Amino acid sequence: MATRQDIQAIKERIDMVSLVSRYVSLAKSGSGYKGRCPFHKDDTPSFMVSPEKGLWHCFGCGEGGDVVAFLMKIERLSFVEAAKRLAEEAGMAFDSADDSERETMRTIVAAVAESYASNLSNAREGKKARAYFESRGFDEAAWKRFGLGYAFPGWDHVKRAFSGRYGIEKLVELGILVEGDKGTYDRFRDRTIFPIYDLSGRPIAFGGRAFGDEQPKYLNSPTTPLFDKGKLLYGLSWAREAVREAKAAILVEGYTDVLTLHQAGIENAVCSMGTALTQGQADLLGRFVEEVVIAYDRDAAGGAASVRGMQILRNSGLAVRVAQLAEDEDPDSLVRKFGADAMRQAVADAAPFHRFYLETLAAMHDPSTVTGKERILAEARDFYRGVQSLPLQQEIAKGVADLVDLPFEGVARELGGRAKRPAGDETVGTTPTQPFAEEEILLSLLLRGDIRWGTIAAVAGPDDFSPPYRPIAEALANAGESPITSEVIEGLDEDAARRARELSLAENVFDRDTGRAVQDALDRLVRIPALDRKLAELDREIRASAEAEDWGRWEALQRESTACMLEKRSLASEKIARRGMHGREQREARSEAEEDESR
Ligand SMILES: [Zn+2]
Repeated sequence: MATRQDIQAIKERIDMVSLVSRYVSLAKSGSGYKGRCPFHKDDTPSFMVSPEKGLWHCFGCGEGGDVVAFLMKIERLSFVEAAKRLAEEAGMAFDSADDSERETMRTIVAAVAESYASNLSNAREGKKARAYFESRGFDEAAWKRFGLGYAFPGWDHVKRAFSGRYGIEKLVELGILVEGDKGTYDRFRDRTIFPIYDLSGRPIAFGGRAFGDEQPKYLNSPTTPLFDKGKLLYGLSWAREAVREAKAAILVEGYTDVLTLHQAGIENAVCSMGTALTQGQADLLGRFVEEVVIAYDRDAAGGAASVRGMQILRNSGLAVRVAQLAEDEDPDSLVRKFGADAMRQAVADAAPFHRFYLETLAAMHDPSTVTGKERILAEARDFYRGVQSLPLQQEIAKGVADLVDLPFEGVARELGGRAKRPAGDETVGTTPTQPFAEEEILLSLLLRGDIRWGTIAAVAGPDDFSPPYRPIAEALANAGESPITSEVIEGLDEDAARRARELSLAENVFDRDTGRAVQDALDRLVRIPALDRKLAELDREIRASAEAEDWGRWEALQRESTACMLEKRSLASEKIARRGMHGREQREARSEAEEDESR
């Protein structure tokens, strides 16, 4: 792995504007550049790049980061891949033992894949595999396009061909050979081979399909240093452009479904390689799409594992619909019988997954009987609780209530107890023109390097900032005399980092001079709240002294209180009402001040 210093050095040598300009047309704006965001549908340019700070940020969708993050996101690369690419561009070496080791492994898998492919195309023994693929509608061009192959019968064809060059140990580590009681032997024997590719399109593992009734029908490579099937989707290497364009993926069950759809020009199909969908796969899809359309055959789609997969996708923030294929059809058979347009239609007609689920329930249990109603409610409860969105939960409760013909309130209570509150503060982005609250102004000035923490340290501490901003303030307070903005941001969690990028790159934070802005902000953020606390304390003492009939003290306290009130009013009256991104605290403070003034 490259060190932090390596990455920093790479970043320093990359011309961020010229790199981003390959994907986004940028125009100079203030101290940075502005363009339309490539990561969401952006009508008003809300994508900002600051080469000076080494940061980019979209004020529309909230995406942002450094140049490595940009390349990762736009090219769908892992961190290491992106850093490596940038290193190459900067003419720097970015190599490590770990990396060259993986490179060797990829070379081995590629060589084995090539030999499987050659078995299919050229070998006499490959005849039945050729016949099989042709019968499934895959001609020689398709074999080449998808890298298809054939593993010979027998125990040691691959072993004999490759162990001399690469060593038995490596082949076992890559799952190409299996270690048994009587030594090592080929994992894939007499199977058609579907190489599994990583996102950059290099083979890293294999799926093998048996011909007859041999079990298992599909055999995959095990987890290896290159391959974790829970974090990869078959077909995504070919689907990258199409899913990006459609912002949607079609999730199918098997390798041949993927290949048939791709071959028919429906190029956003992927599959999860014989397992239920995992969170890792959902996260991967989430990097590419906004919606997933499930196209399993009917029985599989209604199964518990499949429903759980849909919930994982939905809870990862993706829209999920289910294409309802006719009985006994899968995408492969549908396309071969009725053509690509029939499949396109099925995808277009796909129902939201909760509606599909309710239909499945209705088909399984008779909602007109008491037992049927009970079963539906019992099953729907898990489903309901597995969904994190309140509006969606309401939809489900409504659907179930209709289905079992019982009042909504009772059904909702039965399904979930009290309805859940939507999770967290869902604020996404803000526009640079939105007025800023005091704490935002202070942090913005700090992040831009217009003022130092020392300027405000005498008056304000991190605790004076509201919880969403406190981590940023803490990071700045700890960052020393001349903090590097991108490094301060790097140490923050995702949410705080997004806010910090916004504050660093926003335009028009205020239109007054800096000194005045700082004083105003400190007044509002620290001094006025301090006066409020003092006034409350004086109030208590005034009451106590009245009870004690200590009128001398009472009068002194009254004078002090009046002075406090006047000071507060003079501070408050200079302020223009401003609304912040997270302005609840400010709004409350303001309404108190307004009450004071009307007293
Ligand atoms: Zn955006």
